[in-house]
This record gives sequence, structure tokens and C-alpha cells, in this order.
Amino acid sequence: MAKDTRRRDFLRLTAAAGGAGLLASCSRGSATSAAGATGAPGAAAATADGASRAIAAPQATGSPSPADWTALGHDLSGPLVRPGDAAYTVSKRLFDPRFDSLHPAGIAYCRNPHDVSTCLAFVRKYGIPVAARCGGHSYAGWSSTSGLIVDVTKMAGVNVSGSTATVGAGTHLIDFYNGLAAHGRAVPGGSCPTVGIAGLTLGGGVGVVSRAYGLTSDNVKSLQIVTADGQVRTCNSSQNSDLFWACRGGGGGNFGVVTSFTFGTHPAGQIVLFFLSWPWSQAARVIAAWQSWAPHAPDALWSNLHLAAAPGGSVPSIQVGGTYLGSISAAAAQLEKLYAAAGSPPSSPFMETTSWLHAMLVEAGCASLTVNECHLPTQNPQGRLSRASEYAKSDIFTKPLSSRGIGTLLAGVEKFQRAGGAPGASGGIAFDALGGAVNRVAPGATAFVHRNGLFQAQYTTTWPQGSAAAAVARQHAWQQSFWQSMRPYASGQAYQNYIDPALTNWRQAYYGANYTRLTQVKAKYDPHRVFTFPQAV
Ligand SMILES: Cc1cc2nc3c(=O)[nH]c(=O)nc-3n(C[C@H](O)[C@H](O)[C@H](O)COP(=O)(O)OP(=O)(O)OC[C@H]3O[C@@H](n4cnc5c(N)ncnc54)[C@H](O)[C@@H]3O)c2cc1C
Repeated sequence: MAKDTRRRDFLRLTAAAGGAGLLASCSRGSATSAAGATGAPGAAAATADGASRAIAAPQATGSPSPADWTALGHDLSGPLVRPGDAAYTVSKRLFDPRFDSLHPAGIAYCRNPHDVSTCLAFVRKYGIPVAARCGGHSYAGWSSTSGLIVDVTKMAGVNVSGSTATVGAGTHLIDFYNGLAAHGRAVPGGSCPTVGIAGLTLGGGVGVVSRAYGLTSDNVKSLQIVTADGQVRTCNSSQNSDLFWACRGGGGGNFGVVTSFTFGTHPAGQIVLFFLSWPWSQAARVIAAWQSWAPHAPDALWSNLHLAAAPGGSVPSIQVGGTYLGSISAAAAQLEKLYAAAGSPPSSPFMETTSWLHAMLVEAGCASLTVNECHLPTQNPQGRLSRASEYAKSDIFTKPLSSRGIGTLLAGVEKFQRAGGAPGASGGIAFDALGGAVNRVAPGATAFVHRNGLFQAQYTTTWPQGSAAAAVARQHAWQQSFWQSMRPYASGQAYQNYIDPALTNWRQAYYGANYTRLTQVKAKYDPHRVFTFPQAV
């Protein structure tokens, strides 16, 4: 096949795989529970060394009046948007249109940590719920609330100094990559360009070079956070180190509002992208081969396996994508091992060496777009992306799937074809390889406990806007039942960034042995649970 044709196929297939293509798709969602933190804000006092001591929660003074809201608006340097304002309908939106029915009492676009402190004083005074919001991609809608949204997107930007980058907490991923690449630097992150750096980093951050460079959170050297008492704190290995520990994997929305991160960075050179597909008839062999290959490959190789089906489709698809930090010939040698284990080469192979930034654009589903275009129109006037709905669940696998497990997996994907989903819908599962640098960090070294995974999986189903509710409900039921069928083979761990309102044992699944320590940090810095939501620590 001519190279141009292969490239077109590659771009078409990566787009078809859900936008992000290689990593899990950039159109995911969550289960049904309505968002809405039900905070009971109180207060804490800071001691001289910056640590909080618990004090009795002061009595809230009752609901704020319109005049109180107006006064808050005057106290902020950034805009405060209220119901009835022209900007309200757009300002209250999250990424997933499923949450458009939520009605926050206010959205404060904070320009600096002082604005955040002012907002927190307001919610403490009146006892109203609060939620921090960055990219708005919470799968449960938990960056919205009936009270005040503290939006950090006006605190955006990337400042690189040597091998260190200080990044505003409101930076979107594509701007993060672009800002770093301008200085020849990189930090591992996710694929979806509109995800916010704050939510991603606080819950871990799995991306296409994580096997080489670790999670996004593993690369944080320091961060600035405003805690429930309104204090602006620096957290690193020597200052507020307990909070620093919790903010690397403990999950967004739990401990305060982060206003900036300082990352260690890596050189951003050329990178190899590859994208391969096989006929569905080969799926069982490809899955068996991939799971014995991808988690054990050299760190330079990262890979994803994506199985997808459509309602009434003839056959599902199976695709392997990935990246390699090295020469194209070395990448090809690694891929030969996969082909040998699978017993056949892919029917549609594609491989190219490209610049770091272009690779991130391809991963983002923006291969033919500029960086400005690779945004929502609300984020950048040139933005050409749109919001999307999706249900998602996750698993972390610590053992290879048995042949019975592979059979269950294939049956689950095939069932989507008969599940009665909406026209244009999709359903499937994406596995991201782990191992490498991710697993070389001890489970208790940061709050991100999942350090023994071979690969993580995301079960997803998407549908076009305006689809019939009954069809979407059938897709959701299919997904729950697919996930249930895989219980005998999964570890019980789940990825906290794929937050899942239907998960009943979420404390153990997200945080395992680290949960107790997280509750201690919570009690110290947010004793009155100013920050709360249904799965808050
Ligand atoms: C389409 C899509 C693609 C994704 N791709 C990837 C991927 O490739 N890799 C990966 O690891 N994950 C991925 N995720 C998961 C993603 O990392 C999480 O959903 C993450 O929490 C989103 O962060 P956000 O800032 O965009 O979302 P938000 O909804 O704004 O925030 C998520 C949570 O963090 C809190 N929060 C937000 N800002 C702050 C702050 N400044 N301080 C404290 N708390 C804050 C919110 O209150 C909320 O609880 C994806 C999610 C989606 C929907």
C-alpha cells in the first residue's frame, strides 16, 4: 500500500476509534448519578507552620441574597456568572451534554489564588456547596454543583525554565503539550486535548509515554493549592508533604483547589506512531499476543488495544496503536514480536516517525487540525471540536486474561451489535498497557496505589446527540453487564480518573491501602468537608 494511502487509513481509523485513537477515546462519560456536591462547609484554622487544626464549624449565615452574590462578584478579579446572565448557559456546561440540566448558583472564573480564597470564604459563610472545575471532564459531572463552581481555566499557561515547567492549573491538555513542545520539552499526559491538567494530574494521568516517564502525577515536583480554610499553600517534598502525597493520585475535588503545578520535564524529540488492525476472526490470538507483549516491552514502547462494535454491525473491529521512543527500525523489531505471537501480521499496518507535538495532535484526534482548532469553540474561537456523551467504567488487570476470559471479552463486544443501541452509537473496550515506569513507583509513595497493573481497561459506549433515551439506556445496560461479566478476571482495582458513580466499593477500588492515609490528610486540611461529592475521600 502506498504510504499516503496508509496514512489516510491510519488517520481515518484513529479518528474512528473515538477521536483520540491510540489511547482511550476523547468522548467518554459516566454513569447516571446527578452531579451535585452536598457540602456542609465549615472552617479550619491554619497554625503557624501552615498545617490546619480542626475547629468547630462556624454556623453558616443562611443562603446568600442576590446582593451577597453581587458583592462576591465585586470582590473577584475574574468574572462571576449567575443564572440569568447571557453567559450562564454556556458557562455552566461540562464536557458531556448529559450534565446540561445542572444549574449551579454561580460560576466564578478565578484569575488568581486570592479569587479562590474569596470564593471559599463565601461558601463557608453561607454554607453552600462548592466544586472546583478545570476541563469539566468528570465522568460523573462532579465538577458541577448546585452551589458555586470555582473555575480555574483563567489560570492557564506554561512557563518553562530549564527542565522545569510551571503550569497554570486551568491549562487544557493540548495547550500543555504545545507550551512544553515550544521549549522542546514533554510531560506524560492523556490523549484528550480538552481534558484539564488539574483533574488529570490529581487522579494520576495515564498517557502514551507513561511506560517511559510515569504518570502525569509522578512528574509533579511542587504544586500550589488553596485549602478549605482559604490558605494558599505550597506543597512539595518538604512543605505540606502529606498534602503533596495526597494530591498525586488522591483524586480531584478532595483536598482544595489547585492553582498551579510545577513539573519535571523530559526532552521532546521525534516519536514513532504505529497503528495496526487485524480481521475480527484473529481477535482471540491478537488479544493473547498483545497482553503477553505490551506490558513487558521496553519502556520506550507504549501500546493500546481497542475492540469496538456498532449496533447491527457486521463484525467488530480490533486495533492496536502505540508509540515508540526511538528509531522506526527498532519500533518495527518490537512489532515483529507481536506479529509472531499473534501468528499473523496486521492486515492494515501503519508506522511513521513524527514530531512530538504532531503525535499529540494525532493522539487527540486532531491530526489535520492546528493547535487552536484542537479545542472546543468555548475554549478557543478557532476551536473545531465538539462535546460528546459517553458512559465509562474501568478495570485494572494484574493477570493476563485466560482463554476463557478472552472468550468472555469477545462475547461482550459482540453483544453490543445486538444490544439495541442508537444509530451511530459505538460500544467497546480500550486497554492501555501499564508496567514500565508506572510500576517502578511504590504503591504508597504517592496516593496513586495502582502500581502492579499489566494494563487498564475502559469500557465505553457513546451515542450521537439527540439519540432516543431508550436506546441509550440499552447501551448503558449492555456496558454494565459487559463489565459484570469480566469480574472473574479483573483485579477489583479501578482508575479514579474514570470516576464511576455505580461503583459501590470505590474506596478500595480507587485507593486500596492508601485510603486510610487519604482520610487523615482530608481530616487535617478539610475537617468540615467543604469539598465533598458522592465519592469524596
Ligand atoms: C473524553 C475523555 C478523555 C479522557 N482521556 C484520558 C486519558 O487519556 N488519560 C487519563 O488518564 N484520563 C483521561 N480521562 C479522564 C480524566 O483524566 C478525568 O476525567 C479528569 O478528572 C478530568 O479532569 P478535568 O479537569 O478535565 O475535569 P473536571 O471535571 O474539571 O475535574 C475533575 C475532578 O477534579 C476536580 N478539579 C478540577 N479542577 C481542580 C482543581 N484545580 N483543584 C482541585 N480539584 C479540581 C473537580 O472538582 C472534579 O472532581 C479522560 C476523560 C474524558 C471525559
